[in-house]
Amino acid sequence: MNDSSRDRVENWLRYADELGLTPFYRDRAASEPQSSEAAPAPAAEIPEPMRKPAQSRPPFPATPPPAPTPASLFPIATGPTLFEAADRIENDTLEKIRTDLGECTRCKLHKQRNKIVFGDGNPKADLVFVGEGPGHDEDVQGLPFVGRAGKLLTQMIEAMGLQRPDVYICNVVKCRPPENRLPERDEIATCSPFLVRQLDAIRPKVIVCLGTTAAQMLLNTNRGISGFRGEWLEYRGTRLIATYHPAYLLRNPAAKSEVWKDLQKVMSVLGLQAKRAAAR
Ligand code: SF4
Repeated sequence: MNDSSRDRVENWLRYADELGLTPFYRDRAASEPQSSEAAPAPAAEIPEPMRKPAQSRPPFPATPPPAPTPASLFPIATGPTLFEAADRIENDTLEKIRTDLGECTRCKLHKQRNKIVFGDGNPKADLVFVGEGPGHDEDVQGLPFVGRAGKLLTQMIEAMGLQRPDVYICNVVKCRPPENRLPERDEIATCSPFLVRQLDAIRPKVIVCLGTTAAQMLLNTNRGISGFRGEWLEYRGTRLIATYHPAYLLRNPAAKSEVWKDLQKVMSVLGLQAKRAAAR
């Protein structure tokens, strides 16, 4: 770690300490694993990889599940966190949140972005997908999941018997990290309150975290996604399940069957009929 990075981490730790955050530690196994399973999967052709391999990142203490659940796997969240005391904003709407976000320069990600990628879809969706952050295509178009990973996500949504406009799709950070790197902790801490407000405003029945970054942020854990992928958890009173990011599936097509199993759990809760499953 260079001096600049060390200073940033120290400043953040000091800030966290002032807020009364509990200690945390680095989990070097936070990257999503490869899967050796090769069962049938729902989506169509798998293109070549478009993203860099997943990197590990220190844990991000953000929003905890609102109440202990039998499925609680996260022993780290034992004290107050950045959003724990945050009340839902009365009558908040996506329009108000977008207005409040404005032409945001709150974190350094604004410097190289082209467009803010706020989110897209049904403001009253039963199902919300949360990814990590915009990539190149998203940055150009200002819309989430419109690149190759986005096409795969669209296939997954349609395989569930839905259309993209039926769901809401957003990310933890709204501006593209340079070179598609992982969002850094200070960037997540700055931007994620807007995600919290989005989820509070939509009040979906199910949240699907796509990949490690979204899952770690919303669940306040530093555990790798393989430790809880496919398990029903809870976020502020909403059922949450974490599965692999579509970009990961582009690199590891064999994991598609695992994701499909996770999505089938979501479909069961939402009473959806699988198009592709029905066709098989
Ligand atoms: S990532 Fe979020 S907090 Fe940072 S500049 Fe973009 S909108 Fe603002």
